[in-house]
Order: sequence, then structure tokens, then C-alpha cells
Amino acid sequence: MFSEKILKIASEAEVALAPIFKKIEEISFKNTERVLDAYKEFRVSEAMLTGTTGYGYDDLGRDTLDQIYARVFGAESAFVRHSIVNGTQALTIGLFGLLRPGDIMLSVTNRPYDTLCEVVGIDGANGDGSLADFGVGYEQVDFTPDRKIDFDGIAKKLSELGSKVKVVFIQRSKGYLDRPTLTVDEIGEICSFVHARSDAYVVVDNCYGEFTEDKEPTAVGADMIIGSLIKNPGGGIAESGGYIAGTKRAVELASYRLTSVGTGCEVGATLGQNRSLFKGFFLAPHIVSQALKTAHFSAYMLEKLGFDAYPKYNEMRSDIIQTIKFGYPEGLIKFCQGIQSASPVDSYVTPMPWAMPGYQDEVIMAAGAFTQGSSIEISCDGPIREPYIAFMQGGLTYESGKLAVMSAVSKITEEN
Ligand SMILES: *Cc1c(COP(=O)(O)O)cnc(C)c1O
Repeated sequence: MFSEKILKIASEAEVALAPIFKKIEEISFKNTERVLDAYKEFRVSEAMLTGTTGYGYDDLGRDTLDQIYARVFGAESAFVRHSIVNGTQALTIGLFGLLRPGDIMLSVTNRPYDTLCEVVGIDGANGDGSLADFGVGYEQVDFTPDRKIDFDGIAKKLSELGSKVKVVFIQRSKGYLDRPTLTVDEIGEICSFVHARSDAYVVVDNCYGEFTEDKEPTAVGADMIIGSLIKNPGGGIAESGGYIAGTKRAVELASYRLTSVGTGCEVGATLGQNRSLFKGFFLAPHIVSQALKTAHFSAYMLEKLGFDAYPKYNEMRSDIIQTIKFGYPEGLIKFCQGIQSASPVDSYVTPMPWAMPGYQDEVIMAAGAFTQGSSIEISCDGPIREPYIAFMQGGLTYESGKLAVMSAVSKITEEN
């Protein structure tokens, strides 16, 4: 099925990647140990895996999983809900929970993820109910020209805007921007820098970052981290959901937005989802390691074939995203189609660019996943705009991720 050339580079890849794979396994081991210790500490039992209906009062499984997330992420408090529809909603809950009219949200990692721009109302108030509509201001600090965090720029904004800055917002992973992903230590530096100058909450969009390192931003000073369960922490098992973890007060305020003021985390039926949320979080460190191995493998293959892959194959990561800058739309489209053709579900369909809700440009998405749109499963997507970058992530098993990458590189090289 694969050409001699592809097979040869693939086997060279695994020799070159052996020391990196070993490091990834060490991180996965540490994270698995932390997760297992929490399951033991909070005495996870069979009875917790079934869950509640109706109001969902006294859902022991839900309350325990909240505590487990907090413990594993080094946070005081957390909530995890299957009923949060996606990462964007989880972020919306967090931001609306903390921000009040007259406050300012200061993003220090350039523009937030595409779908969040509408939530924030970055283009101004338009009556749809964005933060801007409620009188919340938005300010932004870009990366420096050498793609570093602009600490001078942050200091300047904080002194200019003073106590009006209620949230300093950090996006850990690159999202759809051509920018570096931050490491947890770099996020820690920003947290200390901000906390020394301001009472603002530091909120981190943690999507795609969970378990790629042996600690999360809440362990290094972030007041709130937010993510999606159909990415890393769901372990490929959770069928929907999101989480928020952080300081007691920040999580409490977010919980009042999740349900209602006063009720917070005490309600919310789990409707039989506890088992998959527990099982998914237990598997997540390992599944993330499989996705990381897939990403390194793809970077090696693409680099050797002369493509512009980033990060490089031998660079350690803080998210599971691999980007490939094609510079022309056909490369992006074909690569996505190659990934789709080696997916376990819908391998026979051909993905095409479309106008997805919440995105400014047309987007192409390869998503042959068991859970719709799940991007901890092998997936590849990208907005149809310059410089035509493919964003590939996931792989429930390294073996299947490797096969998908080999078909995608076959697809882009055969026509060149
Ligand atoms: C995936 C993602 C989100 C949320 O997207 P959803 O599709 O709503 O889950 C937000 N920020 C980043 C960086 C992401 O990768």
C-alpha cells in the first residue's frame, strides 16, 4: 500500500524518535500515577459510575470526579460536566463567570481562538450577547517579533488600565494561529508577572495541553484553566463535555454561570455519563502519549519529505497539535483527505472546505472519529486562508496515528 520511500522514512523515523518516545512514556507514567493516586485517595467505587437523573442532587460520582480533576491538575477546585457542549461553551462559562460590566479582559497571547472572538465581541458590541454587549472591554498584547511573550507590553497595559483588568487571558496552544505553544513553565512566568502587578484572575485556555507535560497551569499559578472533554482529558472515551479548574472562588463564580447563582455545582444530573468520564480521565495520560508520538512521527516524515512542519520532530511539546505550512490550498486539502481516508469511521468520504459556524473563513476538517468532532482521535483541519496551514492532532493509538500519517504523506507526495 505504501511506497518503498515512505516505508523507509517511516522506519528511520522510529529509530530517530526512540529517545523522544521514551521521554513521552515517562511523562505518561508520571501522569498516570497522579491520576491513579487521586482515584485511590477519593475512593472511587462502582456506585459512583452510574449517576443520577432529575436535579442530580448528591451525585457522588460527579462530586468525586470534580475533586479528582482538581487534585490531578493541582487546583483547589474544579467541575467537569458532560452537559457542557464544547470547549467554547466551557470558556464562555468561565469568562462570563468572572467578568462584570466595566471590567476588561486582557489577552496576552494575541487573538483568542476563532470561536471565542464572537463570545468576547472583539469586533465590538452587536446585540448578540457577547461580553462587549455587557460592557466588558477587551485589550490584547501580541507576541514580540521573535514570537516571545511581550512582558513589557503586558506591564504597560496593566499599569495603563489598572484594576479594570479583571481577567488576563492566556491561550496555551497555538489554536489556528501560526505561533508557538506555551510551555507550562512559561505560563507560570506570566502568572507570577501578572500577580505581582495586578489582582486580575489569570485564565488559561488549556485546550489540547492536558497531560502533554507532567503538570498543568493551575499548578504554577493560573487561577483558572478550561478545556474540552472531546480533546485530551476525555481520553477518547468521554462523548461530550468540558471542565473548569482553578481557585476556589474562581471556580465557584464559574459554577454560578454553569447553572445559577447560589446553586452552582450542587445540581446537574449525570444521566449515566459518569462511567465514561471516569474511564476517559483514567486513560487520558496514555492516550495523550499516543497522540504525541503520532505528532512527532508526522513531523519527522514531513520534514524528511521537504515540508514545513512545526514543531520540529525533535522538539518537546506542550500540546498535541502538529502544523504543516503548505503555502497553497491543495496541499492542505489533500493532506486532510489523506488523514480521513485512513480513519476508522467514514474512511470513504472526502472532506471538503465549508463555512463552519463560529469561524471567519471556510474550514476543512478530516474527522473520521467515533465521537463526532473529537480531536483526541486522529483529525486534521485548517482554515482556507494564507498561509494554508494544516493542524493535525490526535491518534487514539500510535499505530493507527502512524497509518493515518503515512496515508496523508502518500497523498501529498504522489501528486507533486
Ligand atoms: C478546541 C479549542 C477550543 C474550543 O473549541 P471547541 O470546538 O468549542 O471545543 C478553544 N481554544 C482552543 C485553543 C482550542 O484548541
